[in-house]
Amino acid sequence: MDIRTHNIIRNSAANGPGLRYVIWFQGCTLGCRDCFNADTHEWDGGRLLSLKDIMADIHLQGEAIAGVTISGGEPFQQPASLLALVEAVRAETDLSIIVFSGYRKEEIEHNPLCEGVLGGIDVLVAGRYVPARYLGHGLRGSSNQVLHFLSGRYTQEQCDAVPEAEITISLGGEVSVTGVQVPVIAGWN
Ligand code: SF4
Repeated sequence: MDIRTHNIIRNSAANGPGLRYVIWFQGCTLGCRDCFNADTHEWDGGRLLSLKDIMADIHLQGEAIAGVTISGGEPFQQPASLLALVEAVRAETDLSIIVFSGYRKEEIEHNPLCEGVLGGIDVLVAGRYVPARYLGHGLRGSSNQVLHFLSGRYTQEQCDAVPEAEITISLGGEVSVTGVQVPVIAGWN
């Protein structure tokens, strides 16, 4: 099983409670205005990584991380790969799982593959990014988005305490800016 990925950061503090392994899926057709991840839209962008290699990399992080966050792009537009990743993390680790999606929960919950994903994760951050309702706090880019606490493992207070932005510089000098205040940092809001 392969996953078309846009990027991976192995120890982010701005994508959920605790330090987290974050994987951005490549590909999204939802077309939110002023999307701050436009580089993730094209289906021939990013690179194909095998689930096996991603899981090996997650295991390498050991106890340094509290969980895995899956973002995009739109993770639910690769539903079989998303489900396989969620099932592998669940089967092989005790890590928590947070998924950011542009879909509202009611748009995806009746698809059997998506239903499987929702049954395996701890938090779903759901809904299109709407710049007129910019929020930039508590894992929500805009106030229409909804946090669904699916397991009881996390609370709203824990998510509200997550830093709103983070700048990461890799050993190779690549700079990544992540978090729900990226539109402010980029000067779009
Ligand atoms: S769902 Fe996410 S990646 Fe897709 S257009 Fe909306 S904000 Fe951008």
